[in-house]
Amino acid sequence: MVEAFAVASGKGGTGKTTSTLALGMALATDYDVTVIDADTGMANLLFHAGLDDVDITLHDLLLTDCDLPASAAVYERFGMSVVPCGTSLADFEAADPTLLRDIVADLATDTDVLLLDSPAALGSKSAVLPIVLADRVVIILQPTVPSLSDGLKVQEYARAYGTATGGIIFNRVRPDEDVTTIAEQATRYFNGKTLATVPESDAVRMARRAGKPLLAHAPETTAAGAFRSAAATLDIHDGDAIGVADRFRNAVVPERF
Ligand code: ADP
Ligand code: MG
Repeated sequence: MVEAFAVASGKGGTGKTTSTLALGMALATDYDVTVIDADTGMANLLFHAGLDDVDITLHDLLLTDCDLPASAAVYERFGMSVVPCGTSLADFEAADPTLLRDIVADLATDTDVLLLDSPAALGSKSAVLPIVLADRVVIILQPTVPSLSDGLKVQEYARAYGTATGGIIFNRVRPDEDVTTIAEQATRYFNGKTLATVPESDAVRMARRAGKPLLAHAPETTAAGAFRSAAATLDIHDGDAIGVADRFRNAVVPERF
């Protein structure tokens, strides 16, 4: 079985990478989870997962003359299979984002849940691919109207390619923010449910600094608990692995990019 999720948002810095790893660790108690840093232009998952010193990353696999198998960039960490991406601009420019389809297809045959940490903007081929390829998108939002409106664009785009909304996560919520009103609006406009409201938390920042996912660094915090209940609400679908892999391999990359 396999189900693929894109963890996405309209803007950077909303907590996509934090959320990807937190959901991944929570789901890893019941499922075989693979996490991929598909944000190849602004990769930062490697820092969150203590993988900033590894030799081979997704960038190497995305070079047209690469003959490495996808497994060469897979690292077993925190109970998950983690595929980090490098941060060099030259590597990003040399990479062919369309190769991501084959890599994800290969990885899909050997896991239960694929989480694609996705780029923020929808402006390029590499940015839209994860959303096009995924079964469902999890949208990370701040509890503000502009953020909601950005998230709706992501949902609209996803839907155009047959990607459903898995749910939304409000992240970095400060105590003085009134989430209720905005959450009501969100329920009206988003197809998926609100999976969690995660507070702005020092533990999240400290985890990033320690190079560990939040659920490894501070599992007892409110923020970690919120991500665990989000993962429990996701209700993973039992997709046919071969069918999903074929779909990824044959996915049409939008030509207008
Ligand atoms: P993205 O991948 O969307 O760019 P990150 O997950 O890397 O975002 O988060 C951006 C920064 O914000 C990181 O330094 C991270 O530690 C911090 N951050 C994310 N979520 C929270 C939170 N709930 N509380 C405090 N800091 C957070
Ligand atoms: Mg990120």
